[in-house]
Amino acid sequence: MNYTGVRAVDVVVIGAGQAGLAAAFHLRRVGYRPDRDFVVLDHSPRPGGAWQFRWPTLTYDKVHGMHALPGMELTGADPRHPSSEVIGAYFDSYERTFGLRVHRPVSVLSVREGGGDSPWTEPAGTESAGTEPAGAAPAGPLGQSRLLVETSQGTYAARALINATGTWDRPFWPRFPGQEIFGGRQLHSAQYRGPEAFRAARVVVVGGGTSAVQQLLEIARVAAGTTWVTRRPPVFREGPFGEEQGRAAVARVAERVRQGLPPRSVVSVTGLPMTEAIRRGRESGVLERLPLFERLTPTGAVWDDGRTVEADAVLYATGFRPALDHLAPLRLREPGGGIRMEGTRTFRDPRVHLVGYGPSASTIGANRAGRAAAVDIRRLLTEDPQLGYGATSLTGSIAS
Ligand SMILES: Cc1cc2nc3c(=O)[nH]c(=O)nc-3n(C[C@H](O)[C@H](O)[C@H](O)COP(=O)(O)OP(=O)(O)OC[C@H]3O[C@@H](n4cnc5c(N)ncnc54)[C@H](O)[C@@H]3O)c2cc1C
Repeated sequence: MNYTGVRAVDVVVIGAGQAGLAAAFHLRRVGYRPDRDFVVLDHSPRPGGAWQFRWPTLTYDKVHGMHALPGMELTGADPRHPSSEVIGAYFDSYERTFGLRVHRPVSVLSVREGGGDSPWTEPAGTESAGTEPAGAAPAGPLGQSRLLVETSQGTYAARALINATGTWDRPFWPRFPGQEIFGGRQLHSAQYRGPEAFRAARVVVVGGGTSAVQQLLEIARVAAGTTWVTRRPPVFREGPFGEEQGRAAVARVAERVRQGLPPRSVVSVTGLPMTEAIRRGRESGVLERLPLFERLTPTGAVWDDGRTVEADAVLYATGFRPALDHLAPLRLREPGGGIRMEGTRTFRDPRVHLVGYGPSASTIGANRAGRAAAVDIRRLLTEDPQLGYGATSLTGSIAS
């Protein structure tokens, strides 16, 4: 490989959503400097992470449990404004306040092992981003080999990686026989822009999560008819979701990823919070649910008991999967299909951290994971005798 133009940095953060910004904040806190010791790369056009793409009718008052980023509250937001605008503006201000210098739009195409022939395996005289100590570094199991982060704007050679790419880029489309012959519209909830597109239409909504319920209730107000279809009977949760329940839900997902299994959806562990809108939806019959249909036909859906429903559109509110394709060259996956984790670091490569993944796939989880990853990486790069980087000149913390 030709290393001309490759930029050496200590840490690359991929993604500037809640998880990536929290990680960047804490990297600064433990002494890494933005754009020198670490870079944040994001392929979306604007600040806001995935929030910038969420449908305009998802107003701020409909978002529950959104935690502020570390170090700066979100204040004075108009609850009737779209969350995409409120959170986009908040993230924008956050990035400026802490000088996080997010590079966008920059797409990370792949992350691969730098290999033993990279210039950074040389003990001295190598290009440094500022924290690399001079002098020989004993080779541990990973030596000083770097991760090569290949992007749409060149390549970075990083000692550690914080991956915070969320799930928005990988909507999950279930497969049903007949999808190819269905004559109406089929779309994913990621493409939903509000109920108007469904006025006077007959709509089948597939999925048992919060997005499915919110979109179904909106569409039902203007559609000619709706049918709700879920794989399992939905579990509606009455009463508040306390800290203890939160911890138990997170522990269940954490156990799965510790075993190298793919994380489950949030709703599968938390249930659907009962709201006034849901109560009304159940009373009116909109939230009466059918099991999954067997197949689609040119004009609708058919169940295995012979039931049929005519439909003009099928909306798949079937969730998302972690957007991790760019990490494939690192071979982090276990035979169970997931990535085995220890805290935020991947079991197979302690340089690689996943934040906003599995148990940290919530705004509060992302905040905590961002901090844990920054602290762990600081320790790995400065203290781990296997990596042998010794003490560095990292000092200081940010003001607030
Ligand atoms: C409709 C909806 C409502 C939600 N409401 C809540 C809520 O109320 N409370 C809550 O706690 N959680 C909520 N969540 C979950 C929520 O998405 C997470 O809590 C959190 O916002 C995710 O942050 P993130 O940083 O992990 O991901 P994201 O916000 O998705 O950020 C990931 C970033 O990575 C970038 N990226 C991805 N791939 C690449 C690549 N290859 N190269 C460069 N950049 C890349 C993307 O552009 C994006 O900016 C909701 C989710 C959905 C879908």
